[in-house]
Order: sequence, then structure tokens, then C-alpha cells
Amino acid sequence: MISRQRVLEILEQAGVLQQGHFILTSGRHSDKYLQCAKIFRNTKYSEELCGALAEQFADENVEVVVGPALGAIQMAYEVSRKLYCENFFAERENGAMTLRRGFSIEPGQRVLVVEDVVTTGGSVKEVLELIKNSGGDIVGVGSIVDRSGGKADFGVPYKSVISFEVATYAPEDCPLCRAGKLPAVKPGSRKS
Ligand SMILES: [Zn+2]
Repeated sequence: MISRQRVLEILEQAGVLQQGHFILTSGRHSDKYLQCAKIFRNTKYSEELCGALAEQFADENVEVVVGPALGAIQMAYEVSRKLYCENFFAERENGAMTLRRGFSIEPGQRVLVVEDVVTTGGSVKEVLELIKNSGGDIVGVGSIVDRSGGKADFGVPYKSVISFEVATYAPEDCPLCRAGKLPAVKPGSRKS
């Protein structure tokens, strides 16, 4: 089992943990942002973190790992490599989560759903629905980061490598706005 300290060390090295003044997709403000895509820019980060997650599902006879595009394509691949099984990704077509490219789940197939970071778990729930409708047997959900503060409930076992409580504020209650020092930015919208 990987230690919390080691996970934080990797996230720090990979540049995942960003400090500043951010406007999240929800419209709320925060002084922290997790750019999880950065985990996958170097396999020295993703191999260890995905390995730590795969370990938690090692006895579940997982046959397929499925992740929602784009964020979890590389993650599904890396976790499947550790579990010696197949991997697919689900993607949106006309707004609906779907399996394309000849990917299909067979009835009774044991499926693990992965996502890099779970906040509300919206995309994961859509993938779970898709797999249930295909007759797949859902083993559980796994993420690297659980940002839900343990509140995410998928109706199946949910495991993560690390859980974070990240404080967010309504814009009118944001202490950073009040301090007026840093302009709020939308992560990913800045050129770097
Ligand atoms: Zn603010």
C-alpha cells in the first residue's frame, strides 16, 4: 500500500497540485486546483499511482477497465496493464456517453470503471449506466484522486489512491476575492 506522503510527493513532482485563485467549472472559487492530466505526461508518475489503484482491485478478476474520454483513456490503459486485462474508453456522441470503435461489453464481463479525479462523479455515473445496459458486471469504481470528500456514491465499491478535501467558495464569499490580491483564473485557460 502506497503512503499518503508518497502520493503527495508524486503529485507535487508532476505539477498536479496548483496553488492560486481559481474559478472551477462549477463557478465556485478555490485556492487549489488539481491538473490531473499531468500525471500521465510521464509514466514514472502514472505507473506508480495506477499501480497503487490496481492493487486494490487485484483480487476482483477484472476483465475490462473502462474510462471516460479524454481524462481517463491513459488511466484505463495503465490500470489494465497492471491487472493484465483489456481496456476501453467511453466517449460522447451527440452528448451521450457511448462505446464506439468496436468496443463492446459482453454480458457478465467483469468491468472496473476508472476516472482520474472524482468530484461529483457525473461522467462515471454515465459510464456505469452504459455498462449496466450492456449487461456488464461492475466490480467497482477507482480514481486516483477523490475530491468528493468521501461523498461520492456509485452504488458499487469505490476506491481511490488519495482523498482530498479542497475548500471551494461561492464567488461572493471567496476570501481570495476579498483580499483582492490575485485575479481569479480558469484553470487550463492560461497559456503556459
Ligand atoms: Zn475568488
